[in-house]
Amino acid sequence: MQAFDYVKAKTLEEASALLAEHNGDARPFAGATDLLIRIERGFLHPAKMVDIKNLPGFRAINALDNDWLRIGAAVTMNEVVIHRDVESRYPLLAEACQSVASYQLRNRATIGGNICNASPAADSAPALICYGAEAIIHGPQGERRVTVEDFFQGVGQTALERGELLTAIEIPPPPDGAVGRFLKLGRTTVGDISVMNVAVLGWPDENAASGASWRIVLGSVAPTPIRAPQAEKLLAGDTSPAGIEAAARAAADTARPIDDIRASAAYRTDMVRVYTRRGVEHVLAELNY
Ligand SMILES: Cc1cc2nc3c(=O)[nH]c(=O)nc-3n(C[C@H](O)[C@H](O)[C@H](O)COP(=O)(O)OP(=O)(O)OC[C@H]3O[C@@H](n4cnc5c(N)ncnc54)[C@H](O)[C@@H]3O)c2cc1C
Repeated sequence: MQAFDYVKAKTLEEASALLAEHNGDARPFAGATDLLIRIERGFLHPAKMVDIKNLPGFRAINALDNDWLRIGAAVTMNEVVIHRDVESRYPLLAEACQSVASYQLRNRATIGGNICNASPAADSAPALICYGAEAIIHGPQGERRVTVEDFFQGVGQTALERGELLTAIEIPPPPDGAVGRFLKLGRTTVGDISVMNVAVLGWPDENAASGASWRIVLGSVAPTPIRAPQAEKLLAGDTSPAGIEAAARAAADTARPIDDIRASAAYRTDMVRVYTRRGVEHVLAELNY
């Protein structure tokens, strides 16, 4: 494997100055479960790795005064899964993070690395988008925030600019009575990257004709994780079996998958229909309204 310099950054300012100075040649380094594989395979050739795990607040999960939850960028998947606030308020996120690879890998893999890697198959992303989470970014110009939905710009492309790094993810309070379900199809039952995935969030809403509002986000079927707005709209109007089937078909119509080593586009599209229907049925069975 190609040699590189390793720098353990002590402050945010030091980290972003290093990234800006060595633009492209320096990479932030968290769990490195993606990074080291890409370097070993020769896809990346960074001269410098900037370890960001010990930056202040990067390993913390905190409830904020405005009732949002802040998850530091270097919090591991296992730490997300077992955190009390995540478990009680954002179980859809816990379920999604729990589905990543194996227990051993989740001990290193971070939630920040998962979204900065910008894989369309990033399992935490659909859940974060369902909850309306925002990415907190620090760079030479100071701090800014974008929605996690907009953070994903394309395959391997994020909203991060020169010298910027993700410091945390902040999640607003979930809607009252919200119920979520994350379903993932891999080539193996556990431990594989998603062939496709879907996150479904429903909550009681007296203004919706069906009595509930919905958010549906699909993974691994487009260059970025995507919402399925037509499916969400149909479910707000009708959650009869026919309504659910129509919404599942609308979700499949939204998908823009490709053929690759893991599955064909046609199979992925059909599985979006099947898994969306299953996800909605699970949520509906638990919704209290
Ligand atoms: C065997 C195996 C199985 C896997 N299975 C899954 C799976 O089931 N589901 C899934 O979603 N993923 C899976 N992955 C991918 C990977 O483990 C996850 O994406 C993981 O969350 C990445 O986190 P990390 O901390 O290891 O990131 P790193 O490898 O450290 O970083 C990933 C990328 O993000 C950048 N980066 C990291 N942190 C920051 C930051 N704070 N600011 C700016 N840039 C940053 C790095 O420079 C790099 O480009 C798997 C990987 C392997 C090797």
